[in-house]
Amino acid sequence: MRRWIKTFDDDGSVEELGTKGHGLMAMNKLGLPVPAGFTLTTPTCAAFFADGEQWPQGLGEELDAAIAALEASAGRRFGDPTDPLLVSVRSGSVVTMPGMMESVLDLGLNADTTEALARRTGDRRFAWDSYRRFVQLYGDVVLGIHYTRFARAQKQFLSGRELASVDADDMRELALLLEGVVDKHGDAFPSDPREQLRFAISAVFRSYNSHRARYYRRSRQISEEAGTAVTVQAMVFGNLGERSATGFAVTRDPKTGVPGIFGEWKPQTQGDDMGTASVEAFPISADEDERGGSMEVERPEAYRDLVAMARQLEAHYRDMQAIEFTLEGDKLWLLQTSAAERTPQSAVRVVVDLVNEGVITKEEALLRIDPRELEYVLRPIISPDAKRKVIAKGLDASPGAATGRVVFEASECREHHERDEPTILVRLDTSPEDIQGMALAAGVLTARGGQTSHAAVVARGMGKPCVVGCTDIQVDYARALFYAGDSVIQRGDWITIDGGTGEVMEGRVSMLAPQAEVGSMADLLDWADEVAELKVRTNADTGADAERARALGAVGVGLCRTEHMFFQPVALRAMRRMILADDPRSRQRALHEILPIQRQMFLDLFRAMDGLPVTVRLLDPPLHEFLPEREQDIADVAQSLDVRPEALRARLDNLHETNPMLGHRGVRIGITTPEVYRTQVRALFEAGCELVREGLDVRPEVMIPLVGLVSELERMRELVHDVADEVIAEFGVDLRYHVGTMIELPRAAVIAGQLAKHADFFSFGTNDLTQMVWGFSRDDMGRYFSVYQREGLLSESPLSAFDEEGVGAFVQMATERGRATSPHLPVGVCGEHGADPAGVKFFHRVGVDYVSCSPYRVPVARLAAAHAALEA
Ligand code: PEP
Ligand code: MG
Repeated sequence: MRRWIKTFDDDGSVEELGTKGHGLMAMNKLGLPVPAGFTLTTPTCAAFFADGEQWPQGLGEELDAAIAALEASAGRRFGDPTDPLLVSVRSGSVVTMPGMMESVLDLGLNADTTEALARRTGDRRFAWDSYRRFVQLYGDVVLGIHYTRFARAQKQFLSGRELASVDADDMRELALLLEGVVDKHGDAFPSDPREQLRFAISAVFRSYNSHRARYYRRSRQISEEAGTAVTVQAMVFGNLGERSATGFAVTRDPKTGVPGIFGEWKPQTQGDDMGTASVEAFPISADEDERGGSMEVERPEAYRDLVAMARQLEAHYRDMQAIEFTLEGDKLWLLQTSAAERTPQSAVRVVVDLVNEGVITKEEALLRIDPRELEYVLRPIISPDAKRKVIAKGLDASPGAATGRVVFEASECREHHERDEPTILVRLDTSPEDIQGMALAAGVLTARGGQTSHAAVVARGMGKPCVVGCTDIQVDYARALFYAGDSVIQRGDWITIDGGTGEVMEGRVSMLAPQAEVGSMADLLDWADEVAELKVRTNADTGADAERARALGAVGVGLCRTEHMFFQPVALRAMRRMILADDPRSRQRALHEILPIQRQMFLDLFRAMDGLPVTVRLLDPPLHEFLPEREQDIADVAQSLDVRPEALRARLDNLHETNPMLGHRGVRIGITTPEVYRTQVRALFEAGCELVREGLDVRPEVMIPLVGLVSELERMRELVHDVADEVIAEFGVDLRYHVGTMIELPRAAVIAGQLAKHADFFSFGTNDLTQMVWGFSRDDMGRYFSVYQREGLLSESPLSAFDEEGVGAFVQMATERGRATSPHLPVGVCGEHGADPAGVKFFHRVGVDYVSCSPYRVPVARLAAAHAALEA
């Protein structure tokens, strides 16, 4: 009974075989051409680590048997000095981790077998080139000799010549020279193929636990235990003669999802050349071909075979596939197939097309998309009429535009990130060591590399704007700058990149908000709405925001933060006058100034949401947030308000609070200064009544923040009714409205049963509720929270990832108690968690009616609501 190894004729799961091993097994069974081989399973890797990096009992014998079978089917023997079998040893985990783990090719070569390979193929240069590659790869991966040592020795040997111009004898000399590098820096190079194989397998296992692989898993929440499978396969050679090649094909456009074959091929190369920028790549399809060299034109028969096989694989997997292949002479070999990495745009287009092609169901389509991806579908683009100075152009690797300060080291991205400054990571090319920085950068620009380079693939996966292969720029790491035409861009300078066009621009270029939903995303979200039970509203403070959100499918405003209406100078001055007034008359005068400004803003908001509910929250933040802090600002403000700076400073001292988030804010403003709330309510209803007269359908909901006492709510409700009914009577129109409360304090959740007697609705302010339940200040928790993250106490801030266990208990209790009093009480959530997919699932379960989130996250919440319903 075999325990550790499976052949391609066996059965097995992805969990056991990794995606690569499983794909090879499946392709083999579909009758597709895959080189013979076998797979050491993931439990073998787990056992290897469990035994302190020892081979588990019985593996050695199983390997011998598997090799014997492989020799029989290939008709060649391992280490045979006349006709040797060569193999590749490739990693392949359950969740693909591109470029994170190691592989070794051309294994089985030594000085003797290389000459034998030369005789068999009649190509001595090829044979020694293969040995050269093997020595380097084995030296690096298995023996841990840094690849730069080989690169340096090779460069010295070539002394300016191109590798391509080197003849067979020189290639032999070079390969033996590199073997000498191994002997010098490590143990003697092992010539016994069986020994090579054993060490290579262990090294590939070990690469699963490399620093970068572990980081990659952590950053994508991939489980640690799984381990990697290792596939050993007979070598096929893409570097054997002029008609051989390697390539990478995707069955639809990984950037847009448009059907067709995309990807690149590289004549006369091996798999290890595919990711490097030093060997020129050509497109597979003639459509993409601007300078000649496409596989479709150069090798039409192989291209036709590839297209047919790609179709077969897509039909089998019911998903867009990424396929690695080798062309050895005229024979096409498939080496791997897996679900293709794709941009969020492409992901959406592909699932919608697959539904329309009858391949998958709508439900499958919905569940295949991670709701958070939808935010990237709506990434900003460069405004068409923006002034811009394009200084370079590269390949459009991952769409969306980004602006940021130039950095050249991934580590610098973190420093800027902590200061909330966006960065553009500029590199010659990127490697897996850079992914931590890439994750924090706003965008990535590389001088080298093609559409399948590391930078391109990783950025696309992250949904990050990226331009690669930008040969117009010359990067000088030593001096921390790059040249682009006449421009010299230094570290810290601002640039803008457009991953949709490949353009690189000087400075910060103005961007356009992403377009309202179009095409595939609209279809997908319509399907989402068909199954979702939770409704999605938006948090919007201006008419423009509300319009945008409505176009993205919001069915109302769940939170208008009225304080945001005071960001513009005239409104802010009036507000400051009101706060600084020290007698009721001057306060009333200031409020008089405020009234028309607020009314205008409510007009815009109601107009944008004609026919839909608009929840307006009365003033909430601590008043000092409206006042200046720095000396110069105090002097300026004093002058503009025509008061003495000392008087202003005294007032500021007076308003100072030690814990403003726990201070004079929310309903407490309404209790201490009711005229502020009266003015806001008047403005709101004057706007509403005016629009009712125009024939619009206005549905105001007035919301009181930070309530903790029943009497607070009672009093404010009375205030709202007084003013609202007065205004409605003045206008003589019919306008229905509701008055409700936010649930933001633990006490409010506890007394929700009583609050419900005085509230037409509840809305959970989960930002404050989280702050209050945890007892930390949402303003400055960042300082210590990073330690919590580093120490592994918490992986994500409860302010962004909803805390079901703690805060959730309050949400559930308040909902239940509220509805015990008032069975049809409408309940919403308007904190940031309204678009946290895990949070949305919880809200669905406890019977919340709607969530409300920022406009661009409305699609995220709509899809999350559908997931919640489908998974319930
Ligand atoms: C909340 O507390 O969740 C909320 C929506 O209000 P704000 O963030 O404005 O305090
Ligand atoms: Mg709040």
